[in-house]
Amino acid sequence: MIETASINITRTPASRISELDYNNIEFGKIFADHMFMIDFVDGQWQTPQILPYGNLSLSPATSALHYGQAIFEGMKAYKDANGEVLLFRPVDNARRLNLSAERMCMPTLPEELFMQGLSELIQLDKDWVPPTPGTALYIRPFMFATDAFVGVRPSANYKFMIFCCPVGAYYANPLRVKIETDYTRSVEGGAGFAKAAGNYGASMLPSKLAQQQGYHQLIWTDGKEHKFLEESGTMNLMFVIDGKLITPALSTSILAGITRDSVLQLARDWGMPVEERQIAADEIIVAHANGTLQEAFGCGTAAVIAPIITIGYEGKDYDLPALETREFSNKVAAELDKIKTGEAPDLHNWMVRI
Ligand SMILES: *Cc1c(COP(=O)(O)O)cnc(C)c1O
Repeated sequence: MIETASINITRTPASRISELDYNNIEFGKIFADHMFMIDFVDGQWQTPQILPYGNLSLSPATSALHYGQAIFEGMKAYKDANGEVLLFRPVDNARRLNLSAERMCMPTLPEELFMQGLSELIQLDKDWVPPTPGTALYIRPFMFATDAFVGVRPSANYKFMIFCCPVGAYYANPLRVKIETDYTRSVEGGAGFAKAAGNYGASMLPSKLAQQQGYHQLIWTDGKEHKFLEESGTMNLMFVIDGKLITPALSTSILAGITRDSVLQLARDWGMPVEERQIAADEIIVAHANGTLQEAFGCGTAAVIAPIITIGYEGKDYDLPALETREFSNKVAAELDKIKTGEAPDLHNWMVRI
């Protein structure tokens, strides 16, 4: 067993929990009492700390602000019927953080340290995990380069942190999405598989343009030919065509979602045919035309399963079957919900009890 460092804990003198209205939580604006922080200095991770949530003081020359060595993760904690806190597949987030770190030439963080910091932080702020169905505590681990140096080179120093936001029940409006054929999120050989800050900065203009055309989100296509579907916004993309679950195969331009992996696993458990492969936009249009396109959805930590109701492609909108007909989407959304709150058996050891 790897020995973990003891965390220096400074508790808040004044918890803000009484200000939290569980029935009216605005996403991403309310922060739990504490945050976890650890610095990478002189080639080593220093003493980890937990301290009251608050602002940081940084040099204007902080390297991450200029050259984008910044990565993040997103995950959720849930409460079971007894009020105990459960994390969904947190070790997968720790591993993916390190894959992102390697791509961005940043130091990796030992998984034990990630898990220890996370556990102690959530333990301390467990009252911030809302108890009502559909709610959760959103957890944001992230790392960024902290050298105060204006030259372009990998930073020598970094900061890794975790903070948390309670999130209310997510009522997913069925999405209108546009297949993007001008802009590119990522190409093979790029950093699309990393949860790196710059990927998101570059996606905002094309997303905004699509919103001005009446869509909620984009479906990104491959950067070479704009022919094959990749992801939808910040979610992985899935289709049910003729009873088969089909999703774009992973590549260096696609983020390997933990929700994606979980959905595929459940489909396989249920004996549903699953295909991970290239999907041409034209294939979807043909399946729509011949009536075999049964379901389409995005999947990711935030919305879990976000049904797609309309797909826009080359100036034309294609409407998909009504949500109540979507057997697989509805079943997998319900099952994931139950696994996360301890109501359904955790056959794949996904849940970690705090
Ligand atoms: C985070 C993210 C996803 C979904 O990953 P999950 O682990 O399921 O939350 C998909 N695509 C992109 C681009 C993402 O950033």
